Amino acid sequence: MEQWRKILIAVAFSIVATLLAMAMMVMLTGEHIPWPFWVFTVICPACISGPISAVLVRQSEANRRLNEQLMLTQAELRLQVDRDHLTGVLNRAAFYRHAEAYDRNDPACVLLADIDHFKTINDAHGHAAGDHALRMVAKTFTAALGTDDLLGRVGGEEFAILLAGMPLPLAITIAERARDAIAALAVKTANGTPIALSISIGVAPFAAGMSLDAALAQADAAMYGAKRNGRNRVQVAG
Ligand code: GH3
Ligand code: MG
Ligand code: MG
Repeated sequence: MEQWRKILIAVAFSIVATLLAMAMMVMLTGEHIPWPFWVFTVICPACISGPISAVLVRQSEANRRLNEQLMLTQAELRLQVDRDHLTGVLNRAAFYRHAEAYDRNDPACVLLADIDHFKTINDAHGHAAGDHALRMVAKTFTAALGTDDLLGRVGGEEFAILLAGMPLPLAITIAERARDAIAALAVKTANGTPIALSISIGVAPFAAGMSLDAALAQADAAMYGAKRNGRNRVQVAG
């Protein structure tokens, strides 16, 4: 319908323009123009501009659809570039980029989480089972986070989290809940063998004025503390 409207406008414009040109000629020369010429003045531009504007309108419609598709593909690609292909969470570069852009007036907390004895899981059950476990852990973390929080896979079996606007005591509770949920996961290999999973988490404040690297380094040190203290635990920096 919209296309027909555009074609009609183009045809009407051509007819009016031609009629005006004829009328000006009459005024300037004072010549009488017989009525068949006036009829010709209407039919001729209509016959020329009708098909031409139909082709142009169809072409511009096709261009508009192509452009829409291109924008969608670009948005999809931008999303894919940010994602870790295995787990679907942010990849390392994207996590750092988004976390660096975080509004520093809103104090937050950062978590570094590392799956315990993951090499043993791979060795005992195979790489595919390890990949499956990684996806399950990412899914569990995703379910524990809010929409403004950031979750990235920053190493092989290592995840970083930014809890937006979160005070430390609440961040510890969230970390504990996630650790608990991961320990309770019923992960199985393709042939049904259960895989025991646990994770060690370091928590650190990401206070105003602090650099992201400094906050993550503190969370990392706390995570290694959790490993030293027996794994499957949450440890707070400092
Ligand atoms: P720890 O409790 O001290 O963290 O021990 P760990 O075995 O988890 O740590 P380590 O660094 O020795 O081993 C990490 C393993 O993670 C080794 C590597 O093969 C495995 N890994 C890294 N990326 C992937 C991946 O994408 N898929 C799978 N299946 N395994 C991975
Ligand atoms: Mg590790
Ligand atoms: Mg590990």
